[in-house]
Amino acid sequence: MMKAKIWSTSIWLLVYVILVTCYASRAFPWGSNAHERITDAACDFLPSEISPFFVKHRRQLAYHSNDPDRWRRELLFRIGLKYEKDLNSGQITADLRQVFEVHRIDFPQNAPVSLRGKEGRWFITVGKQEYPIRKEADKLYLLGDKTAIFENRSAEPVLLGSEEETRFALDIEENLLSLTSLNVYKSGDPAEGPRHFLDIDLYGPYPFVELPHDYDDAVAKFGVETITKRGLATWRIADYTRLLSEAMKSGDTQKIVQAAGALAHYVEDIHMPLHVVKNYNGQLTNQHGVHQRFEDDMVDAYAERIHLTPKRALEIGDPLEAAFDIVLDSYVYANNLLHADRKAKLGEDTYSASYLEKLFRFSGWIAVQRMSDAATATASYWYTAWLRAGKPELK
Ligand SMILES: [Zn+2]
Repeated sequence: MMKAKIWSTSIWLLVYVILVTCYASRAFPWGSNAHERITDAACDFLPSEISPFFVKHRRQLAYHSNDPDRWRRELLFRIGLKYEKDLNSGQITADLRQVFEVHRIDFPQNAPVSLRGKEGRWFITVGKQEYPIRKEADKLYLLGDKTAIFENRSAEPVLLGSEEETRFALDIEENLLSLTSLNVYKSGDPAEGPRHFLDIDLYGPYPFVELPHDYDDAVAKFGVETITKRGLATWRIADYTRLLSEAMKSGDTQKIVQAAGALAHYVEDIHMPLHVVKNYNGQLTNQHGVHQRFEDDMVDAYAERIHLTPKRALEIGDPLEAAFDIVLDSYVYANNLLHADRKAKLGEDTYSASYLEKLFRFSGWIAVQRMSDAATATASYWYTAWLRAGKPELK
């Protein structure tokens, strides 16, 4: 219905897309809106000594809290849904090839171009470069004219197949709409992905004592490959707490804001229950896509009803142990969330608005709880880094 509204209106306006979902071959983040909200909330729960700095830089902090997702993939452009059929059949039509060429991605003569399709995922490989294509529910923000958009957000122009279709018709009453699209990415740093999760239930039964918390001990026991594949988030958080302390000591505002933003990202990611379990996308229980349905579709659709209630930041005694505690906390929510998705889908053919309404009824509380806890933890990690830096003055 929403879609019909988009296309039927006679007023054509330039619209730009903010990408809210994140590509990763293995894991997903909270949606970028969720990261921004949590990070923004964290700024208000700091002790008075450092609160002014974080409040002053809150917008940048929120922006940088999505950096780690930018490091693992870069959105290039969107292509029309009409190409879904081509991609499924493993073909790159002349039309599609042209879309790539418009974006200056030339397919050299006789270049090995391969397509892999699996569960709605496609990759176009040109030589050594891989271009993953993901079907995602994007949000269209109507933010006024082009200038304003680029000042406000790091937005990407929309391209749906052809030049004429770079414009959408919008009901001007609406400033946020969902639309499913195909997004073309360029793969980023392959080392980045595993830093966003830790599938703790691959390490025996609860409470997972099989896994040593010390990184070197864990590697000695399982090997670096296994440890990496199962996720590195807790160790990344400990490392980034140190990096933030270093940045604070240096007094370089930009460095501090960037490190604090990245640390926030990793801390927030492991609060998402599906970042800590092997069934991270419902793929083991025939609930494919539950990750995005919960953290993007539901969290964005019900944003106004998700009120965060963080607590004041406290000093963290051991940043690594605290991260493992968060993982354990998240773990206990995971089955609740999967169960909510299953119940919400009962009697529904598609993941429609009524599915989403039920999902919110059954699992909205999880989002509220975990996002609030994530804000508390983020503020606490910032505060702890500052204490460890020797309480330098932040400007
Ligand atoms: Zn992430």
